[in-house]
Amino acid sequence: MKFFNTFLFLFFCVFISAQSLSELIIEIDSTNLNVMLNEFTGEVPTSVDGNTVTILNRTAAQNGTAENYIKEKFNSYGNLTVTKSNYSANGTNVIATQTGETNPEDIYIICGHYDSVANYCANDNATGTVAILEIARVLSQYCIDNTIVYVLFDEEEGGLIGSANFVNQAVANNLNILGVINLDMIGYDSNQMNDASIHVKNIGNSLALKDDAVSVLNTYISEIGLSPTIVNPGIEFSDHKNF
Ligand SMILES: [Zn+2]
Repeated sequence: MKFFNTFLFLFFCVFISAQSLSELIIEIDSTNLNVMLNEFTGEVPTSVDGNTVTILNRTAAQNGTAENYIKEKFNSYGNLTVTKSNYSANGTNVIATQTGETNPEDIYIICGHYDSVANYCANDNATGTVAILEIARVLSQYCIDNTIVYVLFDEEEGGLIGSANFVNQAVANNLNILGVINLDMIGYDSNQMNDASIHVKNIGNSLALKDDAVSVLNTYISEIGLSPTIVNPGIEFSDHKNF
């Protein structure tokens, strides 16, 4: 049994500590991001469940194809446990879990919403959705100390409904969530400052997470090209509010 575990470990992942952050950043593929953004906003056809489809609509009542696209992407990466939470007739969160090797009970969440108010809606929030998929593609190749749960919420536009359901379940299951990074509308530089807006609040590990993000942005400015702007207290019009 021990040999079997060791074999699985070696087969599925390598120590993330063997990589530098710089190497991970370089692995983020902007071409892949653009392809997924075009597919997810219905600009070009794509393949879902073996069928050629165009994702024309992501409003909550009609986003079943978008939901299956996300699930299929997560499943293609390996090393992730992918589930769907059908919490209501029109509401489905898509959840992919990468279990930590050292502290599996300690959880970080990387999340965003995949529903939209109308057709296309590239910035709100196809940008966050495809970023989460790309982050999962890169990180799932490596062993990690703590568990990461990648979550695509439904019905954010209906009043943060999908994330409220997720948080209620997390509380009921007594999950030890150490941090949450919510990506919403990350593709439009409204102030033309080449900055990353980081919205925080003086609660939990929020400020420590912010400090880490600022450190990464400043250290790897040549690779990432965005300077941090801190908004504290941040706006509450997205799924992070429920956490
Ligand atoms: Zn949004």
